[in-house]
Amino acid sequence: MTTFSNYVAENGNQLAQMTNEEIYVSLLNYVKELASQKGKNTAKRKVYYISAEFLIGKLLSNNLINLGIYKDVKKELEAAGKSIAEIEDVEPEPSLGNGGLGRLASCFIDSMATLGINGEGVGLNYHCGLFKQVFRHNEQEAEANYWIENDSWLVPTDISYDVPFKDFTLKSRLDRIDVLGYHKDTKNYLNLFDIDGLDYGLIHDGITFDKTEIKKNLTLFLYPDDSDKNGELLRIYQQYFMVSNAAQLLIDEALERGSNLHDLADYAYVQINDTHPSMVIPELIRLLTEKHGIDFDEAVNIVSNMVGYTNHTILAEALEKWPVAYLNEVVPHLVTIIEKLDELIRSKYSDPAVQIIDEDDRVHMAHMDIHFSTSVNGVAALHTEILKNSELKPFYDIYPEKFNNKTNGITFRRWLEFANQDLADYLKELIGDGYLEDATQLEKLLDYADDKAVHAKLAEIKHNNKLALKRYLKENKGIELDENSIIDTQIKRFHEYKRQQMNALYVIHKYLEIKRGNLPKRKITVIFGGKAAPAYIIAQDIIHLILCLSELINNDPEVNQYLNVHLVENYNVTVAEHLIPATDVSEQISLASKEASGTGNMKFMLNGALTLGTMDGANVEIAELAGKENIYTFGKDSDTIIDLYATEGYVSKDYYEGDEAIKEAVDFIVSDQVVAVGNEERLNRLRDELINKDWFMTLIDLKEYIAVKEQVFADYEDQDSWNKKVIHNIAKAGFFSSDRTIEQYNEDIWHSH
Ligand SMILES: *Cc1c(COP(=O)(O)O)cnc(C)c1O
Repeated sequence: MTTFSNYVAENGNQLAQMTNEEIYVSLLNYVKELASQKGKNTAKRKVYYISAEFLIGKLLSNNLINLGIYKDVKKELEAAGKSIAEIEDVEPEPSLGNGGLGRLASCFIDSMATLGINGEGVGLNYHCGLFKQVFRHNEQEAEANYWIENDSWLVPTDISYDVPFKDFTLKSRLDRIDVLGYHKDTKNYLNLFDIDGLDYGLIHDGITFDKTEIKKNLTLFLYPDDSDKNGELLRIYQQYFMVSNAAQLLIDEALERGSNLHDLADYAYVQINDTHPSMVIPELIRLLTEKHGIDFDEAVNIVSNMVGYTNHTILAEALEKWPVAYLNEVVPHLVTIIEKLDELIRSKYSDPAVQIIDEDDRVHMAHMDIHFSTSVNGVAALHTEILKNSELKPFYDIYPEKFNNKTNGITFRRWLEFANQDLADYLKELIGDGYLEDATQLEKLLDYADDKAVHAKLAEIKHNNKLALKRYLKENKGIELDENSIIDTQIKRFHEYKRQQMNALYVIHKYLEIKRGNLPKRKITVIFGGKAAPAYIIAQDIIHLILCLSELINNDPEVNQYLNVHLVENYNVTVAEHLIPATDVSEQISLASKEASGTGNMKFMLNGALTLGTMDGANVEIAELAGKENIYTFGKDSDTIIDLYATEGYVSKDYYEGDEAIKEAVDFIVSDQVVAVGNEERLNRLRDELINKDWFMTLIDLKEYIAVKEQVFADYEDQDSWNKKVIHNIAKAGFFSSDRTIEQYNEDIWHSH
């Protein structure tokens, strides 16, 4: 195929005369054409990675990098007086995901394509996706996020299935997005099922909409509000629609490739990403028995040999339990099968803890997954140990061979090659480009650990990334960043267990210290980013507090030369790509045992930020690999925390009353200064929560957190020793390549060759 400028010329245009919008559309079509020429990956056994979310991020530059033409196109654009960054800005970010789990799914499909594995993503094409976050009056508001334009990465197909619900049948349509591997001749697809007949008119006031009109709303939103019954029913409709389509696609494709369905497990493997796709198990059994004449016992056996389940959390709220009554309203034909599976288990095991249907007539989706699968995996070493030894122990006792760990990973194409181009180029100068195919080669960097010229260059790259971030935040988010400050970043969904509130209490403490004349050596900028679930009141209150602190501190002339606080609106992949390369300190401060893995922590490590974190999730592995002396850890360990929950031994008020600095910071939440810019009800509720409940134990680690954070900022002043630590982190980040993770999934679980 021809170069991009020739392609443009063949279409009768000239780059120099085109607008950025026109160039974007032209590049999109050029890439789609290149992608359409690639053959599909093949292997007898095909992997179906079913996920409610795919947080894919913008695709243009990622695709150009994977095609190996990013730099050529960039030069051609420059020659015509155009900037690739401005053209990247034109692309809307797809809104098909929510957080880490969806981003993981996206890194995984990139790695499957890169490794040439015959494996595809399957999900839904939500037209408004996850809500867009806007701030008004220092509060989060939610707006519908329409992201699909006339020209998009979606490629329509004529594939369509009938999906039967209790009262009606819905026809699906399938759109696909090409998934290109890095420098690969072959590709995979991301399969996104959808319906015709969506009605945007159902939406009113932000993201509220009529939840009962299933034929018109099914693929409007990701995670529609489920705080009422209609919301829960809609989620069941969505989940069943997703998995019925996936199951029908999988069976069709297996038949096409010569399966007689008795051997279906040789042709397909389904990875269930969290419990949202769990109904694929009874749905496959239903299709095999009712449509294809296989008897029940054999169907159960077939399906149990072609499914794996990935657990992402031990938070009770996130482990789905659907009332049988609700399932009966939506998919009664599945309930019959689920009840038979439940009987099967009951006949074998008497322990109530391992039953599928509990005494309240609720179906435990994870339990069904564990019984009828070949593999149950956690997503970081510590998380998997917690599953085996406490959270899922009764299951581990029955099926020790099923349990395995697959520590999460990230794709280095997006999170290093694209997001931090100066660092990537410099690494190539130092150690060659072998690390792109084999990430462990980053270890060669250790040869330069004490090289002061390398330290200086790394510092220069970081500074330039801060300048680039400054421009981005000014143009897009109305934020004035000081590029000469230390950048301390906490970006992730807002949740009490992630403890943004602990970071906010540090900010208050620092503010009061500065007011007392205890000035930091260098200005500190604390950056937050993240959305809170609209129905999660306390998380909204935490956002509110941070926005109030931001207004108070950034406008206080006594303080703002030493401390700034920003909460970046509408955190998404694009924002992450700008923030991470510019960050010095990576905040990974979840309550130990609660963050299954985290992947943000890996992105920061790879980009030369030092972790300030608890021994939780993959932080534990980061500490082991980089060396505990090269990151900053603090806080109670997971055994202690798990024990405290078991004994109900944590009393937050004791910490509040027992320490003057803690009391002062917590009380400041409702001080006159904060209330003057905020909503007193929200602020009071948050303070009360911290003193009287604090389920995620903010105060237990606060004292130590403040002390270690002061140490971090003091250490920053010795730039040689700081950058030596940076080198140790980058050098050891290779383990966290999602290529490694996917290789392990394939070797241990999927066996697709
Ligand atoms: C990586 C990523 C996440 C996950 O972040 P954690 O810190 O691991 O929770 C969430 N959202 C976006 C946009 C990401 O890129």
